[in-house]
Amino acid sequence: MRDVEELDFSFNPNDFYPLRVLANLYNLSNLTFIPDEEGQIIKRKLMDILACPIDKYYPLELHVFEEKDEIVEGVIICPKCLRWYPIREEIPEMLPDELREEKDELPFLRKWKKKIPRKILSEGKPFNLKSEI
Ligand SMILES: [Zn+2]
Repeated sequence: MRDVEELDFSFNPNDFYPLRVLANLYNLSNLTFIPDEEGQIIKRKLMDILACPIDKYYPLELHVFEEKDEIVEGVIICPKCLRWYPIREEIPEMLPDELREEKDELPFLRKWKKKIPRKILSEGKPFNLKSEI
C-alpha cells in the first residue's frame, strides 16, 4: 500500500479556492482540477496548489517544453532545494528521491538539455548532468 500524504496549502483569498488537496504523491494525476469559467481544466492551475514534496516549498517554477491542450512535457523546479520533477505525457511526476531511478531520469534531462535551466543541469537534485556538461 502506498503512502498517502495530505498536502495543505495556503491560498490567495482572491482566488476561487480554497480547497484542500488529498494527493497521492505517487500519482498526482489523481488530483482534481477546478474548471475555469469556460469549464476548461487548466493545468497551469496545478502550479497554484503544488508544493515540493521534499521541503514543501511553494510556489514552484514551471517550464513548459511541449504543449497541446495540456502541458505534454515540461519540468517543475523547486527553487529552494533545486529538485526537479519531470512532466511526461501530461503527468507531473512528483516523486520523492527514493522512488526515482537515475536511469529513467537522465534521458529526460538530456532530451531537454537546451531548455532546462543551467543551474538544474549542473546542480539539480536528485540527479544532474554535471559530469556531462
Ligand atoms: Zn524543494
